[in-house]
Amino acid sequence: MNSATFIANLVCRIAAGFRLGCLLQCAAMASFVFAAGLTDAAQFHHTTGPLLHTFVEIKAYGDNQTGCVLDQAFVEMGRINDLLNNYDPSSEISAINAAAGSTSVKVSPETFEALNEAKKYARLSSGAFDFTVGPLVSLWGFNREHPGLAGDDPDARLLKQALRLVDYRALKLGADLTGPHARLKHSGMYIDVGAFGKGFAADRALAFLRDRGIPNALVAAGGTICAAGSKPDNQPWQIGIRHPRNDSTFLTVIALHDQSVSTSGDYEKFYYTAGKRRSHIIDPRTGLPVSSVQSVTVIAPSGIASDALSTALFVLGPGDGLRLIEKLPGCEALVVTAAGEVVFSSGWPQKTIIY
Ligand code: ADP
Ligand code: MG
Repeated sequence: MNSATFIANLVCRIAAGFRLGCLLQCAAMASFVFAAGLTDAAQFHHTTGPLLHTFVEIKAYGDNQTGCVLDQAFVEMGRINDLLNNYDPSSEISAINAAAGSTSVKVSPETFEALNEAKKYARLSSGAFDFTVGPLVSLWGFNREHPGLAGDDPDARLLKQALRLVDYRALKLGADLTGPHARLKHSGMYIDVGAFGKGFAADRALAFLRDRGIPNALVAAGGTICAAGSKPDNQPWQIGIRHPRNDSTFLTVIALHDQSVSTSGDYEKFYYTAGKRRSHIIDPRTGLPVSSVQSVTVIAPSGIASDALSTALFVLGPGDGLRLIEKLPGCEALVVTAAGEVVFSSGWPQKTIIY
């Protein structure tokens, strides 16, 4: 990398979003590239940062411009987050939530597509994955930075009240001459994008990179990882699946071939009340946090599919969950039950699993 290219790269990175981490990384990468004397098209590039209430990382191999495009993809994911983030009052999802029970809200094609896809997985899972779970998420105190309840567990009356507001079918999506729009039928309903937003944003990042001539890349957003193409040596991207009770161990390692993988676990957000572990995935049929599963990993053709389905299977459990997965083309799943039993679908790629 000569100094002119380096400065061009740096300017591009500044334009990509004024991110300090990116600039530091740029400097670090420059010294690595100088030291290694690499000029070919297979340099490793990556960009990382906090986004979507988690940590996002984008990796690819390519020429000098690749790092700059990765930064732009990160910015693109930030733009998607600005549209979807239900904790940001200025997002489109917040506008739909605020207008619940009254008006239809004009939305961008991106928000429309995300909701339309999310509705598809809610339907497929018979509502085990239900993005209108918001009232239950707040009832159980999972909408706070430090999850927990101020008092006792919610009683039957409060559960019933919240459950009445949870129904993905009450999200009405439409389009007219002014563009796409969305409406929640009942006042008090609340869309929570926690179980599909990361997958959707990661899919968009890969599409962004593909459109700019980077067909081989990996995007990780928390528990969702989307892989496109392969590494320069034609080797597939390899992903370690975290052990749900030991974060320094992998259950197994799998190779991804233009696929995505998501893990939903009971170890991400949880608290204890009355000796019970309460974790952040809630069964929309009972209103109760699910406690029958430690983790679920789903491999699927897209990030939004693996993200939504890992949450769905967490609720459905190994029986109904794996029955659903066996019916879906290109999908495989691995479930660790509360008792530590590991079960997986018939086409799960790696049979050596160490719990
Ligand atoms: P993570 O956010 O750790 O990747 P998930 O993708 O499984 O895990 O999403 C869990 C989040 O989704 C919860 O924190 C909550 O905001 C929301 N959620 C909880 N239960 C459900 C459900 N049954 N269907 C859809 N979303 C849910
Ligand atoms: Mg999910």
